Order: sequence, then C-alpha cells, then structure tokens
Amino acid sequence: MSSIFTQIINREIPSKIFHDTDSVIVIADINPKAPLHLLIIPKEESKNFYETKIETLQMLSDTAKLVADKLGIADHFKILINNGLGQEIPYLHFHFMSDKGLNKLKFIED
Ligand code: 5GP
Repeated sequence: MSSIFTQIINREIPSKIFHDTDSVIVIADINPKAPLHLLIIPKEESKNFYETKIETLQMLSDTAKLVADKLGIADHFKILINNGLGQEIPYLHFHFMSDKGLNKLKFIED
C-alpha cells in the first residue's frame, strides 16, 4: 500500500491544499500542533532525511520561503523535520509552523 502522502498527492485522500506544483505539495496538517501548521511534501518519495537528495532539500527550503512570503511571515515561522524520532509517516517532509499568517491562508479549490 502506498504512503498516505502519495495518496494525498494523487488526490485519493482529500486534503486542504495551499500550494501545488510538479515537485511539491503543501497541505494543512490534519492534527495541527501550532495555530498554523502546514506540511511541505516533495512529490518524489524518500524515507528519511539521509535518503533525500540535496536538490530536494533545497527545493523544500525554497518552497518554505515561498509559503512564508505568501503568508506575510517571512521572519516568523519554524520548520521541523522528524527523522525517526517522532516520525509518524516514513516519507520525508517539512513541518511549517507559525502563530501568524492564518489571515492569508487560502486553500486551492478543486
Ligand atoms: P511526522 O510525525 O511523520 O513527522 O508527521 C506526520 C504528520 O502528518 C503529522 O503531523 C500528522 O498530523 C499528519 N497527518 C497524518 N495523516 C494525515 C492525513 O491524512 N492528512 C493530513 N493532512 N495530515 C496527516
């Protein structure tokens, strides 16, 4: 069975999508641990931090900056990567969290 994130990318499982390109999807976390909690998920799957290409990590960082700019919180967010410890889904992704930016959070309508 494919990862829950692959199913989200393939629209087999619904999610609130904030940003979607050929290489990355940004969605709302279903169980937010901050007022604003997004997941930045590369479309190319890798299990953990070490297996992830440097180009992919760069693309995820660039996406975080883009998301922060869109939300007007370029200097007010945090990124978390769980690697084994606290990692529920074995598919590398960034958690993007803030207590601001909610006023600009608009999801893509399917
Ligand atoms: P991890 O613990 O692997 O770093 O993070 C996985 C995250 O995915 C958790 O914060 C969890 O709430 C979120 N999550 C798990 N299942 C789903 C789902 O079906 N949809 C969405 N949008 N988020 C999910």
